[in-house]
Amino acid sequence: MMRQGRPTRPGDEAALPTDDFETFSGNRGLQHEEPLIFEQDADGRTGVDLPEPRADLSDRLGAFKRRGPIGLPGLSEPQVMRHFVRLSQMNYAIDAGLYPLGSCTMKHNPRLNEKMARLPGFADIHPLQPQASVQGALELISEVGRWLCALTAMPTVAMSPKAGAHGELCGLMAVRAALDARGETRSRVLAPESAHGTNPATAAMCGFTVDPIPADTRGRVDMAQLKEKLGPDIAAIMVTNPNTCGLFETDILEMADAIHAAGGYFYCDGANFNALVGRVRPGDLGIDAMHINLHKTFSTPHGGGGPGAGPVVFSEALAPFAPLPLVQKNQGGDFCLVEQPEETSDTPFGRMTAFHGQMGMFVRAYAYMLSHGADGLRQVAEDAVLSANYVQASLEQDMSASYPGPCMHECLFDDRFLKDTGVSTLDFAKAMIDEGYHPMTMYFPLVVHGALLIEPTETESRDALDQFIAVLQSLARDAKAGNSARFTGAPYLTPRGRLDETKAARKPVLRWQQPAPAEAAE
Ligand SMILES: *Cc1c(COP(=O)(O)O)cnc(C)c1O
Repeated sequence: MMRQGRPTRPGDEAALPTDDFETFSGNRGLQHEEPLIFEQDADGRTGVDLPEPRADLSDRLGAFKRRGPIGLPGLSEPQVMRHFVRLSQMNYAIDAGLYPLGSCTMKHNPRLNEKMARLPGFADIHPLQPQASVQGALELISEVGRWLCALTAMPTVAMSPKAGAHGELCGLMAVRAALDARGETRSRVLAPESAHGTNPATAAMCGFTVDPIPADTRGRVDMAQLKEKLGPDIAAIMVTNPNTCGLFETDILEMADAIHAAGGYFYCDGANFNALVGRVRPGDLGIDAMHINLHKTFSTPHGGGGPGAGPVVFSEALAPFAPLPLVQKNQGGDFCLVEQPEETSDTPFGRMTAFHGQMGMFVRAYAYMLSHGADGLRQVAEDAVLSANYVQASLEQDMSASYPGPCMHECLFDDRFLKDTGVSTLDFAKAMIDEGYHPMTMYFPLVVHGALLIEPTETESRDALDQFIAVLQSLARDAKAGNSARFTGAPYLTPRGRLDETKAARKPVLRWQQPAPAEAAE
């Protein structure tokens, strides 16, 4: 890219339209102003051509016969096709460009993973099929679990949780079961102030009270405050490592010893495992349970609420309480799904899911693991950390990094660099959209003011990072130069501009209503 920006308007710039240029159609170039599918409805239009029902057959629907139209829009097949393709073109995706969303690990999902997940032997099986007919699928689940145990140095894994948050629930339910088995009722869970919202939510859902631990000036858990909070009512501590400021918790061994000495368990939020995979084994750090977001570290796609998978690895102390179902290899070499407590000598806390988990995600994760190999996975962590440090160092002069020194796989900035510019973190992020970038994570973690959390991941090339850095530099310099107009109304170039997000969240319009006849006639 040319650092000055590519000249997109040849010739006399003054004679050419600007941002507020309006088109006759409402379309902007190849981006269409797409009406709702219901607004495109035309009576009697349809995408299918059914034969007339035979007159000599009486219907047997009785009272079930529909009395009025069902209310679906009538469209032809090409109209439906165009509608959804146009909507999809308004979307941003990792396949379209860099997605710097901190804490989310939006990395490229190799197409090989997709090809493997679509193999009929994996894609077309049914959860209620006889186990003898799905031996390969069970073996694959078992193999993914074996890799996860090896990468984390943990003896057991529960494969069924379907997301990170679900994994947290699984982990704390195992903690609860272990405490019950000891005949203890401990009520408090410690979580750093920088924790992802799911951590305190999970603890609360399991009936614990959440006690936040402040961060020290280095952005890490304040050990003195942590130790003060320990006591006989502490059930567990939930810590993310690297934490949500992108920093390695350097006192993690001391933390593990302290919580264990107090009789509690150490839950690690493993969403940031991408920074450590192949380099650090959480089991060596004294962790008792940790979920792994396959949809982050192991590349399976996510976003938009799509399927995830959050297997949980357990230490010796919690392993007996791991939930059902479990995949087990029998003496004869067969794989089986253990679904009843009587089938195991352990004491599972219950059942986490109806079936075995997210098969498609397991296949993608396994393809990713095998294609990288142990050395490749290690390089993933190294390159992810390198990318984040490259971004942090390159933006040092223009933006304000929250903590000094190198980061792990994501770098955290706050809004000090925007002081007195009239531009907020939100404005800055929205202006990135006009430049063709999905914004970074904003206002999280809460421990710094106006946070901007950037996670580039290892799958971005040096060129892509340089282009991204140049855009952020240009925005930061523009903000400081007083060009606030570029920010306050941004985004200007999207099909919709700045939305009233509070109103959208508080008063969402989720249902299309048929306009009143008078309005419709206008
Ligand atoms: C993503 C994330 C979670 C939750 O994972 P989901 O799969 O979205 O439920 C929890 N903690 C951290 C730090 C995360 O980044």
